Amino acid sequence: MAYELPDLPYPFGALEPFIDEQTMKIHHDKHHSAYIDKLNGALEKFPDFQGMEIGELLSSLDSLPEEIKQTVRNNGGGHYNHGLFWEIMAPNLAKEPKGNLKKAIARDFGSFEKFKSDFGALAANFFGSGWIWLLEENGKLKIEAWPNHDNIRIYKLKAKDILILDLWEHAYYLKYQNRRPEYIEAWWNVVNWEEAEKKFLISNFSSFAPR
Ligand code: MN
Repeated sequence: MAYELPDLPYPFGALEPFIDEQTMKIHHDKHHSAYIDKLNGALEKFPDFQGMEIGELLSSLDSLPEEIKQTVRNNGGGHYNHGLFWEIMAPNLAKEPKGNLKKAIARDFGSFEKFKSDFGALAANFFGSGWIWLLEENGKLKIEAWPNHDNIRIYKLKAKDILILDLWEHAYYLKYQNRRPEYIEAWWNVVNWEEAEKKFLISNFSSFAPR
């Protein structure tokens, strides 16, 4: 069973004007798709690892054959992260979290505004390609910025993914070129807080399982 590209949960142009249609098309159909092809290609000769849930595969990098370890880390991480990224965006939504997540953000960051500004500053200043995350670990929310396609499963953290923002230039260059802070600011308009709240409330750390 090979890994498959999940459909976007909304049309390519749905996040306009904040994230443009062409960027979404290329990002999903070319970039995410290529990660999956390379991941499947790497695993071709190793059927033992082919049926694994993607997060589980990433947590098992140590047991993979040396020759495919890095390829699986890069491309499997790319598959996991993009699957999550598509899910936590949507058009025309509430601009703020509510309920339990809202309370937890206020508890751990002081206020929603403070959280946004901390997250945005770290994202704007992160050097090179990577992702910025809102996670829950040990009952506390935290912001992390990690390079390449690394994530909680690669690092074997007992943590929950809540939000994720792609900082690779392919995520914003067509519309924003070198203006990464504008992309970050625009992105807040398409955050799916309802989905983030769902991820915050799950009890199983590894329940996110795209294929
Ligand atoms: Mn990307």
